[in-house]
Amino acid sequence: MQINDLPSELLSNILYLATKANEAENETFTYGLSQAPLPLVKAKLTKYVRGPVTAEALRWDATRSIRSVCSAWHDWAASYNFEHVFEQRWKGAERWADLTMQRQKYSFYELNTRPNGVALYRDPYGSLKHTDRLFSAIPSAANHVRRLWFNGFYVAQSDKLILSVIASCPELSFLSVPWTVLRRGSADDWVDLLNVNTGVGKPLHSLEITAVALPADHAKALEADDTPNPVMDPRVDFSALKRLKFFGNTLHKPIGDEDLQLIARTATNLECLDLTNLSTISVAGMLSIVKASSQTLQVLEHSPRSDDGFYHPYPGHIDEHVCELIASLPRMRDLSMSVPYMCADLFANHEVRWQGDCQIRTVDICNCSADTGAHTRVEHLRKTFDAARALVAARRRMGHKLSIEIFFAGCIFYPEQRLVHGDFALAEISSNGNWPLHKQASTKGPYGTSGVYEKEEGYWDAISEEDYFTAVTRHWVQL
Ligand SMILES: [Zn+2]
Repeated sequence: MQINDLPSELLSNILYLATKANEAENETFTYGLSQAPLPLVKAKLTKYVRGPVTAEALRWDATRSIRSVCSAWHDWAASYNFEHVFEQRWKGAERWADLTMQRQKYSFYELNTRPNGVALYRDPYGSLKHTDRLFSAIPSAANHVRRLWFNGFYVAQSDKLILSVIASCPELSFLSVPWTVLRRGSADDWVDLLNVNTGVGKPLHSLEITAVALPADHAKALEADDTPNPVMDPRVDFSALKRLKFFGNTLHKPIGDEDLQLIARTATNLECLDLTNLSTISVAGMLSIVKASSQTLQVLEHSPRSDDGFYHPYPGHIDEHVCELIASLPRMRDLSMSVPYMCADLFANHEVRWQGDCQIRTVDICNCSADTGAHTRVEHLRKTFDAARALVAARRRMGHKLSIEIFFAGCIFYPEQRLVHGDFALAEISSNGNWPLHKQASTKGPYGTSGVYEKEEGYWDAISEEDYFTAVTRHWVQL
């Protein structure tokens, strides 16, 4: 029996193990010079600096011998190499003129006592152009692509190249693109990108849109662009998408509530919605998607301003009661969100499937306003924490571990432990040192459970819920 007669899973596993073994043995370092020599400047070069070979190059080298065995093995290697394609903009650093293209000979450079090279210009979009050319010339390579990831490309030229690469990959499932692709792409580009009912290949499974602040010239070019918003076209269909993520802030044509409301018209089957580190989408935008995918949503991560800790979580204004809506989502499992108001109703439904760490960041309590007295607030808070405890207990009875953290008024509340973590130094002074009855050192900080990160001075304490309520009613702690 020939090795190629083995069942394909077995053969694939053997080739995979061989590739991994090659990867461990192959060159993992490349060399550069300690400083770039410029034309007409005589600078003595003294040493090479070692830097890691990229993950893609490592993978490519590891299948070198496998690719040359037979066509079946070559196909397997192509699939392994092209399954994930990561494109990153070339940033500044040069490739050294006298460095061989054969990576397996790199170790000789350790012996070189007189290194030399010149600064070479490299097109920052060179790699992207190359990928585009490769995939349009060899569709069989593009057919292997399942995941595409683009980072650092924000100009019209690169957006066009990105869309062209995407169009070449019919089996694409996971995509991460800069938001400029949404701003400059046409409706046709997006119909093709989401690939619903186009008759070719598979629809997109996961879409991640990232944003960054742009330098002035790029920002100007983007703002001058007048492409109509592709999501306004009814043919742009998000109904097959399971995961949607927005990450990062920008000032230039940012993704906003209006975009999310348009996306919500068709995004009816999402399982995961993630809005992290951006403040241009408010709770209203988030809710439009949550409502559209209410029957399927399992993961909701909405932390608009994680950069600022939780001191500025104001996530926008809404008129409806979020608590009931969130508590009624039938398949919700992982919840972390920032809302303007919350109350005990959020924890009232014991049929929920929540598990793991549930984080709620809130500005105020439902039905409270600026002139609500401290006693009323304490009553509302007490009910909320009781409801949270009851829900945690109900989930435990069903065999699921759930913990609830509530970020409110500069403190972190752990209803299950009846503890409040925060900075209570001023309250202690106001009480003339008679309060709190008990306190313990806290490892928490304004950035949440992972501590203070050296960003803030001072230390946090943990006190009991009852001590906290006493301080609120006596106005030592302001809500
Ligand atoms: Zn409420």
